Amino acid sequence: MAAKSISIAIDGYSSTGKSTMAKALAKKLGYRYIDTGAMYRGITYAAQERGIISSGIAIDALVNMLSELSLDFRFDPSTERSDLYVNDTNVEAFIRKNKVASWVSKVAEISEVRRFLVEAQQKMANVGGVVMDGRDIASVVLPQAELKIFMTASPEIRAQRRYLELQHSADNENISLEAVAENLKERDYLDTHREDSPLVQTEDARLLDNSEISMSEQLEMAYNWAKEAGA
Ligand code: C5P
Repeated sequence: MAAKSISIAIDGYSSTGKSTMAKALAKKLGYRYIDTGAMYRGITYAAQERGIISSGIAIDALVNMLSELSLDFRFDPSTERSDLYVNDTNVEAFIRKNKVASWVSKVAEISEVRRFLVEAQQKMANVGGVVMDGRDIASVVLPQAELKIFMTASPEIRAQRRYLELQHSADNENISLEAVAENLKERDYLDTHREDSPLVQTEDARLLDNSEISMSEQLEMAYNWAKEAGA
């Protein structure tokens, strides 16, 4: 079968290594990588900057803010990374912080936010040749994707990985392993129980549990699946 530009949907729990895998797979296939979690984080950050989120979310103000926002990814050749820009400002340095992580799943429950982002994500993907990761990619954003992967790993391993990642990040926020595990547990609960587009493994998705396998093994596995799917 001749190679073509397919769409690949990667969903799963927080800190299962989705984005690392999706990025590596996109690079190996020469595809574009789209990090939808960054987009939910970008909206959360923009709302925090405007005082719309403090001890709670002012939902009406947040929904009104959406019409003023433009989100896009721009590739930086020096870092080989696609950075998220919100209204022409690079927000990468802010959106991974705990302040954003502790609110993002609540923002992601708001249906207007989901509709706004799903539309933007579908536009970004309609050229084909994309690897997109998130929570509702196979079920809502790209139900026609030729390959769907659902990633998981044990909660202990995910918390440990996320903790090490935070410790090695430039702005180490001194957060404990217990606090990291708690944040993951809370996000898992919110992501799987929300009314609008909860995280689910669709019937046609392949399960990838990476608790016990290396990055290169999982990349090999996903690459072979992509080839089988026509990439
Ligand atoms: O993938 P990441 O951890 O950066 O996503 C941050 C949060 O955004 C998730 O915990 C989830 O609540 C939300 N999200 C979502 N749907 C997506 C991607 C992310 O609800 N497609």
